Amino acid sequence: MDLLCEKDDCENEATFRYRWPWGDEGTVCDYHATTTQQLAQQLGREPALVSLGVPREAAPTGSELELAKQLLLDKDADLQEVTRQRDRLADENIQLVHALQIRRQRGATE
Ligand SMILES: [Zn+2]
Repeated sequence: MDLLCEKDDCENEATFRYRWPWGDEGTVCDYHATTTQQLAQQLGREPALVSLGVPREAAPTGSELELAKQLLLDKDADLQEVTRQRDRLADENIQLVHALQIRRQRGATE
């Protein structure tokens, strides 16, 4: 089998197939299998790294994909909530600065 590593500009023979929980998959050489594993640790996610000498595991079922999609949607909802809170606090901050300016102006004229 003469599959090549799919990472940019890498011409090594692919020795592993990887698949991320969200479905991205491809083939990589020994070296890029290591970097993929390191990236996985940084992300806290587990890619399925399978040696090309070994039969591939079954593709994710529809319900697994649905679960992964739901997790992504949940994270997105969390992010939107944090963004809303940040915007609200920014508004409050502006109002407080205005109130402070008005007090200072009154203080200066009295
Ligand atoms: Zn490579």
